[in-house]
Amino acid sequence: QEDVFKKVISHAKEYGFIFPSSEIYDGLSAVYDYGQNGAELKNNIKQYWWKAMVQLNENIVGIDSAILMHPTTWKASGHVDAFNDPLIDNKDSKKRFRADVLVEDYCLKIEEKENKEIEKAAKRFGDSFDKAQFEATNPKVLEYRAKRETILSRLARSLENEDLADVKALIEELEIADPDTGSKNWTEVRQFNLMFGTKLGASADSAMDLYLRPETAQGIFVNFLNVQKTSRHRLPFGIAQIGKAFRNEIVARQFIFRMREFEQMEMQFFVAPGTELEFYEQWKQKRLNWHLALGLGNENYRFHDHEKLAHYANAAADIEFNFPFGFKELEGIHSRTDFDLKAHEKFSGRKLQFFDPERNENYVPYVVETSVGLDRLFLSIFSHCLKDEVLEDGSERTVLSLPPALAPIKAAILPLMKKDGLAEYAENIFNDLKYDFNLFYEEKDAIGKRYRRQDAIGTPYCITVDHDSLTDHTVTIRDRDTMQQERIPVSELRRIIDEKTNF
Ligand code: ATP
Repeated sequence: QEDVFKKVISHAKEYGFIFPSSEIYDGLSAVYDYGQNGAELKNNIKQYWWKAMVQLNENIVGIDSAILMHPTTWKASGHVDAFNDPLIDNKDSKKRFRADVLVEDYCLKIEEKENKEIEKAAKRFGDSFDKAQFEATNPKVLEYRAKRETILSRLARSLENEDLADVKALIEELEIADPDTGSKNWTEVRQFNLMFGTKLGASADSAMDLYLRPETAQGIFVNFLNVQKTSRHRLPFGIAQIGKAFRNEIVARQFIFRMREFEQMEMQFFVAPGTELEFYEQWKQKRLNWHLALGLGNENYRFHDHEKLAHYANAAADIEFNFPFGFKELEGIHSRTDFDLKAHEKFSGRKLQFFDPERNENYVPYVVETSVGLDRLFLSIFSHCLKDEVLEDGSERTVLSLPPALAPIKAAILPLMKKDGLAEYAENIFNDLKYDFNLFYEEKDAIGKRYRRQDAIGTPYCITVDHDSLTDHTVTIRDRDTMQQERIPVSELRRIIDEKTNF
């Protein structure tokens, strides 16, 4: 299983899907960049979601609110005052959080020491300093790294197994402990909030403290009336949005599963009080069906109904997916009551109510929310579709069997060779189809090699132009999954590609 996950990470990098952020500077922890194929796949997933939520539902509209919001927003939502993730408030999760904070702190301190060793050596050796070599061989650095790894995997293990006794033991061992001596005379452990802070304004005195939003939902709540009035929707109706969210996650070490900068696709559905649980059940089912329609296998999804509820919710469930490291949360469906809108009424002094002509009364709507992480969804699809296959002739191939509608490239146009006018003929096909599909054109290397590269990035079709094409205007079309090749008229290409790759 671990090997599968490693393969996913290296394939994502090797084929231009996902790179560590600022890699030339050794990366930034739990932050990733999407490469040329990753960006396409991600955009296609967004579209697939947007179409299903906004285009196909006459009572859902989409917005795009700002990442920076008035700071009072986060007071109202509860994110500022709650020390940790404000959403769950119980003793066990506080303990877990405390252990997280302490381990992170401990690791940062070890890292500081490590960096000092490296800086010292860099000064000593000057131009001849080979950082990578030093890091790989210096005993002190290796010792620091081993220490970090040991404590991180212990934390991960005890959190994973819900081993609260060990979590408690960790807290006791680490409370203000020095990584070198183990003695406990350290300065105060710093306060920690999951939100990233930033400043608005140039001068230090007048600058206003802001946060990067930790969820996109609040941008929808504060716009509830703007959208309701201008769209003239009556309840029930929904507002959807796709956007970045930022969380200073402490245990963030599972590739794009848990990142510090990530994207959410959320929908808040506003309903009359008392009807929320009915809509909650509906949305649970609708969202599950949406996932199942991707065709990754029904057995890879399951619901996890929450027993312990966040203070704002009266029902909550996760849709879990069978990731390479086991079943984990992919999407959350929450019945959030009127908690958020009421809180914004209180803090803003504005009424956030709906006049219901049938009931002939004003009320604060209740909210059912569906919230899925785009990056997690990407990971679920990518990791599931990546396969090593042994072919009939005993050779092997790596294929990314993405749902064709999501594939970064829909078809590769490949002239068998450059000369004899084959390249020009292929270019004409490319230019004719490029307005409808994202295509790839390539004339280098043996055709078999070119096919393999397309398999590895999930391209559903390879279209080969050969000498016969010039006279009979047919081409060979090769199917990614069956590897069957078929001779078809050029004039049929648009229809065939469209049929396969349309949503
Ligand atoms: P988790 O329990 O895994 O931390 P959460 O319950 O905090 O997630 P929500 O606040 O409900 O998550 O956010 C909704 C969705 O956003 C999650 O289901 C997940 O897909 C995604 N998500 C949350 N945090 C992250 C993150 N750090 N990186 C990537 N995706 C995330």
